[in-house]
Amino acid sequence: MAKLYFRYGPMNCGKSTTLMQVAHNYEENHQKVVVIKSSIDTKANDQLESRIGIKRKVDILLAPEDSLEKYYDEWNENVSCVLVDEAQFLKPKQIEELWIASKMLDIPVICYGLKTNFLSEMFEGSKRLMELADTLEELVTICSCGKKAKFNARFVNDIFQTEGESVVIDGEQENTEYRPLCGKCYLKRKMERNG
Ligand SMILES: [Zn+2]
Repeated sequence: MAKLYFRYGPMNCGKSTTLMQVAHNYEENHQKVVVIKSSIDTKANDQLESRIGIKRKVDILLAPEDSLEKYYDEWNENVSCVLVDEAQFLKPKQIEELWIASKMLDIPVICYGLKTNFLSEMFEGSKRLMELADTLEELVTICSCGKKAKFNARFVNDIFQTEGESVVIDGEQENTEYRPLCGKCYLKRKMERNG
């Protein structure tokens, strides 16, 4: 029986790079993969772009209202693996459809995404993945202090943000950027802001 995987980690931990490496490994063995990205992530449109310069066109740019059920027949016939980037932005129903694909079509589904938003609260897609995934794997990157970074901090004009909309794509809104921080650095910044 195939598994549903959730590989989660903060910004800049190499999720897209790893996804493209996995796709390459399948294709090298002449196996077909399907790459899905949420349309909420407007960065690079229908491309995956890793920070180290690799690019790849996605097969399905998935809007929040889209269903994946219409792809089941095609996947069942000739797809060896389904890979999802920015999975935190998927709706719980879409995560359930991926879970069904892994179990009923027996195709491994590997989801990459953030666990929490800049307020350290879980995205709804990530929450459903935590509930349903057979395998959870944490991908790590390093905080500026050298410790393991787990949190995504949002900075606007270099100022740590403690409120705002859940989803703001960096680069789309001026002067917004995300930085991966360890728990201690995240809390220090948060406490400084709250005085
Ligand atoms: Zn730190």
